[in-house]
Amino acid sequence: MIAFITGATRGIGKEIALELSKRGFDIAVNYRKETSELEEVKKEIEENGVKSFFVQGDVSSFEDCEKMVENVEKEFGKIDVLVNNAGITKDGLIMRMKKEDFESVIDVNLTGTFNVTRNVIPYMIKQKSGRIINISSVVGVAGNAGQTNYSASKAGIIGFTKSLAKEVASRNILVNAIAPGFINTDMTKVLPDNVKENINSQIPLKRMGTAKEVAKVVAFLAGEDSTYITGQVINVDGGMI
Ligand code: NAD
Repeated sequence: MIAFITGATRGIGKEIALELSKRGFDIAVNYRKETSELEEVKKEIEENGVKSFFVQGDVSSFEDCEKMVENVEKEFGKIDVLVNNAGITKDGLIMRMKKEDFESVIDVNLTGTFNVTRNVIPYMIKQKSGRIINISSVVGVAGNAGQTNYSASKAGIIGFTKSLAKEVASRNILVNAIAPGFINTDMTKVLPDNVKENINSQIPLKRMGTAKEVAKVVAFLAGEDSTYITGQVINVDGGMI
């Protein structure tokens, strides 16, 4: 079985790559820029006795996605599971938000999810099976002041997921989304301590989640225990919503 994960050299994406590799998936990793992290991720994946393959590309570019998917197909001959994980934030109140900050977040998070999926889906339709797991966010479900761009992109992913699930169900392709709450990664590391404390106090479980706690739900949706689930959004948020 082959899993292709976007933005998988750190954070939640990396943990998804490791969790799926532990469960026997060969892993295709998309990364945007060469970094020192690549070798370490490759080593950690392959320690689980599976193959890894790395493809560079910006998910907001349709052409990059076309090339990446073609290369993964050439390497492994199929893609069983696609995880659209790559994402960015450019937070700010609407009064101060630049048009470019709105557009770039939509381009990466939402259009990026379309770009990769659009290129993977013909292969899944041909093989008459597949799983697509999109990483949304609780703020796409509930909203958050200062994140109109990010929330819109993540709510868009939910609509995309539900529509695609209906469109490709007859081809045995299951499409679901995960909406993580606050997860301890580089994305949330930048928050000041007092903000983090305030966030924790609003989470019923009183702590941020870990990337592994998200990765385990991805593994469930990618595996044999979820064959009758499609078009769903699973919140992994410590009870926030
Ligand atoms: P992160 O910043 O550590 O990782 C994001 C990854 O996406 C990085 O590897 C980055 O290089 C990659 N990426 C960014 N733009 C890209 C592009 N244009 N093309 C290809 N790759 C690109 O963040 P994370 O916390 O691991 O987030 C992973 C996903 O989970 C994101 O979609 C994020 O929105 C979502 N999420 C995170 C949290 C959280 O609290 N950390 C909560 C909800 C949802």
